[in-house]
Amino acid sequence: MTYQLRVAHLYGDLLNTYGDIGNILVLQYYAKKMNVELITKVISLDDQFTANDFDLAFFGGGQDYEQLIVSHNIQQKKPELIKFIEDGGPLLAICGGYQLLGEYYIGAKGEKIAGISALPHHTKSQDNHRFIGDIEIQNQETGQKYHGFENHNGLTYLGTGEKALGKVLSGHGNNGKDHTEGAIYKNVYCSYFHGPILARNGELAKRLLLIALKRRYPTADFSQAEQLKILPTY
Ligand code: GLN
Repeated sequence: MTYQLRVAHLYGDLLNTYGDIGNILVLQYYAKKMNVELITKVISLDDQFTANDFDLAFFGGGQDYEQLIVSHNIQQKKPELIKFIEDGGPLLAICGGYQLLGEYYIGAKGEKIAGISALPHHTKSQDNHRFIGDIEIQNQETGQKYHGFENHNGLTYLGTGEKALGKVLSGHGNNGKDHTEGAIYKNVYCSYFHGPILARNGELAKRLLLIALKRRYPTADFSQAEQLKILPTY
C-alpha cells in the first residue's frame, strides 16, 4: 500500500449498538481500492485522544446509558477533539456520537447528557416516542441523495454555522419539523443514519477518505482515487 491513514474509532466498544462499525468496514473497502492502508484504533475510556495522531475519526451511536458514561469521559478529550475539528480533520458522527459533539442531549428519562459543544447543535427528547424507519435526504449543495435508516429519541436543532447534511425527502430527520437531517461543520459530517450510512452512501465514504488523504499527503496526486466508482446505492 502506498498510503496510510490512522483512524480513531471513538468509544467503539461502548457506542456500538446499531451496527455503525460497518462504517469502518466500508472505509477499509474503499481505502484498499485507493491503495491506502487504514489503521484503526478504538479510543475509549482509558485512552488519550491526540489530534495529531489521527487522520480520520469515527463516532458511532448507542443507548442513553452508554452515552452518559461517554459524556463524562469525553470532557477530558474535548480540547484535542476540538483541535482536530477546527484544524479540518474529517470526522463522521452518527446519532449518539452526533448528539455528543453538540451542546447537550436530554435523554429519554429527562437526564441532561453533556456534549462537548464542538458543534453548536443541541438535542431534546421526545415523550415516549422514537423516530424509526427509512429515510431519504438530499444534500442541497451537491444534489446527492442519501439513504438510511433512522432510530432515535433525540430531536436535534442545528446552531449557527451548521448546515444540514441534507433536506428530508422522506422520513423524520433531525427533529421532524424543520426538514433538516444531520449536520456539516468544516469536515465534520453528522447524521442520524444507521444502515450503516457509508455502506449505502459510498460517495460519503469516498469524500471522507479523500479529505483525509489530501490533508495527510498535501503534494500527492489523488485524481485516480477521485474517479473511483462507488458501490451502487439504493
Ligand atoms: N440514545 C440516542 C437517542 O435515542 C441515540 C440513539 C442512537 O445512537 N441511535 O436519540
